[in-house]
Amino acid sequence: MSVYGLIRFDIEDFITPESDEGLAAVLAAMEAFDMPGSYGLVGKKVQSLKSHHREDLLAKLGKQPSIGFHSLSHSEHPTLSEDLADRPYEEGVERFIAREKPGVQWVTELVGPPAYFTQPGGNWVPQACDALPQLQMPIFFSDAWNSYLVTSPQPMWIEDILHLSPPVATPKPFAMNLPDNLEDAVAMIHREAQMRRSGDIFMVMVHPTELMTTKFWDAVNFSFGATNSTLRPAPLRSRTDRDQAARAFYAYIKEIHQISGIEWLDVNSLANRLVPLGAPRLLDLTTLRTSVASHGLGPVVIADESYSAADLVVATALSMTGAPLGTRLPRVRAPRDWRSEENRQSADGERMPIDTVLSGARQIVNHVEKTHRLPGTVILGTSAVTIQDWMRTALAQFAPHTTSTVPLTFLNFVKEPNALHWDWPIFPPDFRPVGLWEDTRRLAWSLKYSQYRT
Ligand SMILES: [Zn+2]
Repeated sequence: MSVYGLIRFDIEDFITPESDEGLAAVLAAMEAFDMPGSYGLVGKKVQSLKSHHREDLLAKLGKQPSIGFHSLSHSEHPTLSEDLADRPYEEGVERFIAREKPGVQWVTELVGPPAYFTQPGGNWVPQACDALPQLQMPIFFSDAWNSYLVTSPQPMWIEDILHLSPPVATPKPFAMNLPDNLEDAVAMIHREAQMRRSGDIFMVMVHPTELMTTKFWDAVNFSFGATNSTLRPAPLRSRTDRDQAARAFYAYIKEIHQISGIEWLDVNSLANRLVPLGAPRLLDLTTLRTSVASHGLGPVVIADESYSAADLVVATALSMTGAPLGTRLPRVRAPRDWRSEENRQSADGERMPIDTVLSGARQIVNHVEKTHRLPGTVILGTSAVTIQDWMRTALAQFAPHTTSTVPLTFLNFVKEPNALHWDWPIFPPDFRPVGLWEDTRRLAWSLKYSQYRT
């Protein structure tokens, strides 16, 4: 296995006609060196290519192995996060689908069905985890700069989708500063080849329109929550500058395509190398206890099988109710009704009668069988107990000296608000969609490592 490099093109500028030439330049460079890339298209951009009679570019895109969807209109207000910030989660999922579906259809009709979604700018939203399967896009191709989940050189599953937030190995901005930053950009790829482990992923992020312009197309029109009364194209670089930038991009691809130790992949090829999302095997209580004692409640690989925090709770409940070892767990997703501010655990050392703990285990098993979700709480006696408190109590039953707390380590996989891209310059000033962050923490119950086929 090598280090895997992904090149993602975000093709989004539907206002500056010359941006089409930037797209033509990157496609030509990629074709010249037979380099696989992933092409994320904004719905309004494919429409503008059609209205500019660029059937040649639409046809070339249609031949690419990985087409993505980069939202219907990217930075138009309200952007995705602005639209979903104050809605209840389920309503937000419906809203995501309603507003984005026409864009998916445009991309499908004019280029081909998109396999992945990339958030526009800082608009990573947890509702995508539920909306994307319904839009037939099983991959969320995010990046270290914009994801709410921590940067990871390893693909992960969250709910039913594959999620990528690889480290980004490009200068920021990249294409806009070509050719001046060409050497730096190539050196960054050499560093990735040296520092990463086999099977790690990293990515290159390119906005083709930057080869043509001196400012970001959306900053010109949609900054700080406001929209220009007349949309205007981004200011252009001089003809000479544009040619030099395009030549520098060609030189960049020529250099990086031959760096040893890196295999360049499009996102579908990467996904095809992964074991499909499945249910791991039931573990015995001693193994479960040992794992939680050393790693807390979070994504973990045990005996080559990948478990989410939710899987570990269900495995514990099933083991306690006497399910046979080695059977497959039921598919389990994050709880619907769980808020992380309630993650404080009740006083430790508290013991419960075994019958009470077992009744909680049966509630969990029944709930998962019926809904394929972890319950957020169980009813023990007359009181509602959070799922993590049940887990702590259950483990304490058979290992009273080793597990007085159950750290919720899956929450470590969600960035803290001050690390999120809420300062994206298109958002209104002081935009703080805390509800999106809270729902991300809830969904992280289902987060687990994806694994390569052997
Ligand atoms: Zn974008």
